[in-house]
Parts: sequence; structure tokens; C-alpha cells
Amino acid sequence: MIDIKKIGLLDAQPGRCAMIAGPCSAESETQVLDCARSLASLGVKVFRAGVWKPRTRPGNFEGSGLQALQWLQSVKSETGMAVTTEVANARHVEDALKSGIDMVWIGARTTTSPFAVQEIADALRGTDVPVLVKNPINAELELWIGAFERLAGAGVTHLAAIHRGFSSYGERIYRYSPQWQIPIELRRRIPGLPILCDPSHMSGRRDLVAPLSQMALDMKADGLFIEVHPDPEHALSDKKQQLTPTEFQELAGKLIRHREPKQADLKFMKPYREQLEEIDLKLIHDLAERFRITGSIGDYKNLHNLAILQPDRYNTISEILVSEGSRHGLDENFIRLLFETIHAESIRCQIENKHTK
Ligand code: PEP
Ligand code: MN
Repeated sequence: MIDIKKIGLLDAQPGRCAMIAGPCSAESETQVLDCARSLASLGVKVFRAGVWKPRTRPGNFEGSGLQALQWLQSVKSETGMAVTTEVANARHVEDALKSGIDMVWIGARTTTSPFAVQEIADALRGTDVPVLVKNPINAELELWIGAFERLAGAGVTHLAAIHRGFSSYGERIYRYSPQWQIPIELRRRIPGLPILCDPSHMSGRRDLVAPLSQMALDMKADGLFIEVHPDPEHALSDKKQQLTPTEFQELAGKLIRHREPKQADLKFMKPYREQLEEIDLKLIHDLAERFRITGSIGDYKNLHNLAILQPDRYNTISEILVSEGSRHGLDENFIRLLFETIHAESIRCQIENKHTK
């Protein structure tokens, strides 16, 4: 069980959520201070800026390094905001702490590497600096949890997570697709862990930052981590996804923060919830019945030397279900995914049955 201590810097005013904002990269003293002054005047308490930038391809801007840490010191002394930057190895941690960085984050690429996370955890041992851990690039919850365990093992207790979306191949709307069920499961596995959302890297597009921010709050995110640049068109990294301070102000003004349900809300929802529970239980009973029948077919295939997987049958039934689903207004992808899951379980049961008989 990981012991999570509250990060005071993530406290938000009532009806608001924690906001961390700032440019993707610290590019120059002027750019950093310009951006910080605008954000401080909008009430932002924590300023982000990448000092060392992990770029997918070499030859792109890789950050301003040590000199940028001095610019962040100026942000602190001039605006009173706390500052945070990304660390990817022990040397980054040492340099960041020496220059008074208030909080660090571990980037998505680094979370994927247990060696790197362990090195960072060891470098943080004995310090009390809060650490935000972004999800790994690939959708592997255990890797994300492993990073928290490594940090906790080194005595780091002020921890929070950032959901920044996951890499996927091919056509897609978002640069990194959100998979909301993963932070939901993370919350269940590490109770008390604050989870922020980074709609900037998730969307990769300025116009999608606001809708994704609202979606994240609808999913109970504890805060937002947003890229803001005084002149995004000329940014040295991630220019398509950074907001101007004015766009950020508009977004912050429109966000709807939800309240906790009161007795009257719970009373109103109760009959609906009871109906849903009844349907969910029926689904379970129907599935149990379905897999009993699967068992009988499996026995027959086994006895008569037939393959367990019958692809033609799978394709036919899948199309029937999609078309029936769409007649009832159900999403095609949802039906495919649901049937894929049921079918995979059916195959697993038949294989297991065969080998335990
Ligand atoms: C960043 O926040 O600047 C960053 C590099 O993010 P990620 O690790 O999510 O790609
Ligand atoms: Mn970025």
C-alpha cells in the first residue's frame, strides 16, 4: 500500500481545480518571464517549463538546459509562483533541486523505463520534493504503478499522476489517445493519489485542449496541466498544441467544476441506479449461461477433432451484432469491442476446458 501525502501546491480554491501551466520548453529568459507574468496575473500558482526536452527524433530543439533553471528562479522571485520541470535522470534531479525547483515531473517516455525511474527515485531519496508521474507512452497500467512504487520505496510520499494519453498507431483524432479507464483503475489501485490531466499533449491540437479539459473534469480529474506560450506559432517545440495566455484565460473561465452529489440528488438517481443494477446482474447471468453453452460446443469440437476457432462463424455473428446494435443506436466500435471480449473469453474457456479434461 503506497502512502500518499497531500501536495499543498495542488490545493485549489473551492469550485476550481488545480492548474499547472506554462510553455512546453523554456526558450529564453524573455519568453519564460512574459509567460509567467501573464499566468501569475490569471491566478495560476504553479508554472511549468521544460528545461531538458526528450524529443522523439534527434535534431529538434532539446531544451535550454542549466541556464533555463536560472530563468525559473527569476519566475519564482518575480511572480511568487512555484515552478516545476521535467527530470529524466539523476543529474537533472540534482541540478533542479540545487536551483530551487519546487516540484518535478517524470515524462511519459521516462516512465516507460524502470531503470530511469529507479535512478530518479534514488536521486530523490531524503528530499521532500513532490513528484508528478506522467503515464507511460504505452497503455500499461502496471508500468505506471511501478513508477509510484519505486518512488515510494525511496521515501517519496508527495506524489501525483498525470494522464497525458497513450500512443497508438494509425489515423486518430488525438495525438495521444486518452484511455479514461486507465486513470480510473489507477485511482482504485492507489487510493488518495491525485490525478491531473494534460490535455495539451493528449490532443496535440490547440482547438481540442478546452473540450478535453472539460472531459477530464467530468472524469473527476483533480487538476489540469496545460501548455501556454506567449507566441505559440513561433514556439520551438509543440507549437500546434500550446495556448496563448488569452486562450488559456478563456478556457479557465468556461470550465465547469462539478459538485459532490447531495441527498436529494442521490434520492433522484436511486430508482435509475436500481434499474441499472438489475440489468447488469441480468447481463452477468446471461453471460454465465452463454459460457455454459460454449462449454458444450467446446466438448463437441474436441470430440470430433474440430478447431476451437471458427473464423467464419466469428465474422458472421460479429456483423449481425453490429447491424442489430446500430438499429438500436449503439456505437459500432463499442459493439465490436464488446463482442471481441466475449469471444476471446469463449475461446479461452474452450482451450482451458480441453486441457483440463
Ligand atoms: C511535457 O510535458 O513537456 C512533455 C514532454 O510531456 P510528455 O512526457 O507527456 O510527452
Ligand atoms: Mn510539450
